[in-house]
Amino acid sequence: MFVSSGPRVGRELLALTLLLSAPSACAGKETETLETEAGATDRWCDLLPREANTAFERVDMESDWFEVYEVEDGVFALTEPNQFQETISYLILGTERAVLFDTGLGMTSIRAVVDHLTRLPVVVLNSHTHYDHVGGNHEFDTVLTVDTPYSRSNQRGQPHSEVAGEVAEESFCEGPPKGLDTELFHTRPWTTSGTVVDGDSLDLGGRLLEVLHIPGHTPDSLALLDRQGGLLWTGDSYYDATIWLYVPETDLDAYEHSIARLSALVPSVRRLLPAHNTISADPAHLSEAARAIRQIRNGSVQGVERSGKRVVFRFENFSILTSRPLLDGKRGIQSDGGSGLSTWR
Ligand SMILES: [Zn+2]
Repeated sequence: MFVSSGPRVGRELLALTLLLSAPSACAGKETETLETEAGATDRWCDLLPREANTAFERVDMESDWFEVYEVEDGVFALTEPNQFQETISYLILGTERAVLFDTGLGMTSIRAVVDHLTRLPVVVLNSHTHYDHVGGNHEFDTVLTVDTPYSRSNQRGQPHSEVAGEVAEESFCEGPPKGLDTELFHTRPWTTSGTVVDGDSLDLGGRLLEVLHIPGHTPDSLALLDRQGGLLWTGDSYYDATIWLYVPETDLDAYEHSIARLSALVPSVRRLLPAHNTISADPAHLSEAARAIRQIRNGSVQGVERSGKRVVFRFENFSILTSRPLLDGKRGIQSDGGSGLSTWR
């Protein structure tokens, strides 16, 4: 059986300035932006291709959009560096089937890239259902999700009005992908073919992936663990940049718990594979993130106030961008879904 059940319980810089004055697109995950001596600010584009990624073998691909790297044997990172989110989806191969962990921005076909890389049957699983991780879900027949009201709402897709800033001129380094109508761009609806819960295992043939339900960033956040290979896919719960924990659907209690759970895995994990910017991160950073969120919440570190009631806290390898209402213990409505772009009013 492919899915076996578990117990049913259950961005980097030498930055000198923070540029998140508006909740719109251009500063992106990289809120910390290099300020030159002349005072001009460089964009993420100037950091491309990121050294942390070019350390891996680039796969030759006929795509004007996706840049694909082989991170490990049978593990491909499908990166979208030319849009500021720098979203990363992962194709993970076994001998019998493959898992596609996230389907990207949905601005051009990810299916074409996947078909180039494998002939195995592909099962889609999402690290969470923010718009920038489910964009290509509609291209696949088999999509497994965590069954939460939040995920169900997001299956409707996101209208153009919600994601218009994501296709604004300044959101791209070299313009949109060929064929994308930026006036109409929206996230397409998708359907699920099954659900997963915490503790499930996905048997790909020669590779077993454990599903960890790690709510916090969103109610439906997942991590994947290849215990034998020492690999941990962290989605948006950890990456080496500014971690977004400010939207109303974020739950800081849950995040603190989930990140502590992930950091307990650090001794047995060789590599983190995050969903933004860089395709590999040091597992030790997870422990730093666990400590950071505790310090933020107990008031032992100071943040800097930003627009949209947001507050940013800077640490050595990452920053955490949260919001005043969440720090004050408020909870947003989770059942309405969310694109990942909304701020508190
Ligand atoms: Zn997200």
